[in-house]
Amino acid sequence: MKVSEFYSRRKTVFAIEVFPPKKTMSTENVYSTLEEIAALKPDYISVTCGAGGTSAVGEGGGNPTLEVSSFIKNKCGIESVAHLTCVASTQNQVLRTLTSLKEAGVKNVLALRGDINPDLPRKTDFTYAANLIEFIRQSGLDFGISGACYPEGHIEADSVNDDIKNLKKKVDSGCETLISQIFFENSLFDSFLEKARLIGIEVPISAGIMPVTSKTQIERMVSMCGASLPPKFTKMIAQYENRPDALRDAGIAYATEQIVDLISNGAEGIHLYAMNNPYVARKIHENIDNLL
Ligand code: FAD
Repeated sequence: MKVSEFYSRRKTVFAIEVFPPKKTMSTENVYSTLEEIAALKPDYISVTCGAGGTSAVGEGGGNPTLEVSSFIKNKCGIESVAHLTCVASTQNQVLRTLTSLKEAGVKNVLALRGDINPDLPRKTDFTYAANLIEFIRQSGLDFGISGACYPEGHIEADSVNDDIKNLKKKVDSGCETLISQIFFENSLFDSFLEKARLIGIEVPISAGIMPVTSKTQIERMVSMCGASLPPKFTKMIAQYENRPDALRDAGIAYATEQIVDLISNGAEGIHLYAMNNPYVARKIHENIDNLL
């Protein structure tokens, strides 16, 4: 099933994002983690790929994103979305990945440009995610296609407004749904949504929420994506930074409050960045299940 179909059921779509095993992880542990997350029965699970497309293309070294997406779809019975970056790939490489995903029964991709990785030479086949989306459409492989969006503007864009204009081009190239970058202040998402609708972006947009469980995690995320941290949030981190269990519980409570507010205001979808942490995913799910 394509993920766009979930949004036509007029309920808030609930998705969880996971990442494939890193070299240092035991594959078995990751698969049991995935089973625990899948047992929560989200509408779909999306699977990240490595920076610059390293794990997306998987030349001869396997393709962890493909393997995990296939496991979720075929072993756990949950629809999966494979993230796919294009910045360091040729059209042939992307086509091979798409064909493998298709053969594995994966029906959806999140089409991304990817971050510019100084260690990987850029290829010239794709400049923006919109080029990848057009390429997937023209491949005739019939994937459900999602794209990324940024409530505070993409880190390279001059302004949120400029970024939204580019987002409109991306949607016009054929992307059916959007998933947002994380944010910690719902008013930022509300204002982004309003601007996106005004400019004529009509596809469903899921709100990206990340429950914060450690100070290093938040520092890493913020340096990567530039999400702003409201005072209420930074106070919470400062208060509990040396008490891991308290910080985890406060992070779950903060994310729950964001999600309750979003759903009460008619959010079309919630995309939970659960960082492969089944405890956190389960707690959040328990808190909001009746709202969904
Ligand atoms: P684009 O949509 O191509 O935008 C990139 C920049 O170009 C923006 O500043 C945009 O404003 C500008 N732009 C776009 N079109 C035009 C145009 N026509 N003219 C001029 N400027 C333009 N990264 C990974 O490596 N792996 C992942 O698994 C992954 N998952 C993600 C999941 C989500 C939900 C999100 C929000 C991001 C994810 N990312 C991931 C990060 C993403 O790859 C980076 O943010 C990347 O820098 C931009 O990708 P994009 O697809 O949004 O790019």
